[in-house]
Amino acid sequence: MHELAICRGILDVAGAALAEHTPRVAVSSVAVRIGRLTGIDPECLRFYFDLLITDTPLAGAMLRIEEVPIRGLCRACAAEFVIESPAFTCETCGGSAVDLLSGQELQVISLETVEEVCGGD
Ligand SMILES: [Zn+2]
Repeated sequence: MHELAICRGILDVAGAALAEHTPRVAVSSVAVRIGRLTGIDPECLRFYFDLLITDTPLAGAMLRIEEVPIRGLCRACAAEFVIESPAFTCETCGGSAVDLLSGQELQVISLETVEEVCGGD
């Protein structure tokens, strides 16, 4: 359910960007950056993307997902590390005062477009 709402948001952004182009442009791919902390399942997102773009100007576009790891910065020892477990503790000193550096991203990075080839015999 989460992914469906996220996907709609991505399509809103992509659709708005597309509207600024001349009409005859086709989108070949939509690139998004997703932090792991968002809990978004990339496969699920892809599923909804394919479903929702049918019969829209984005039809046929591919969703390219760049996953961003959760990174933390320990306030006690300034160590930077990738957080894999649900508990945010520093792997160097074991401290629990950790600032989040990344992992919450949810951005549309770019749209790749191709000029639509005009029909002709
Ligand atoms: Zn530390």
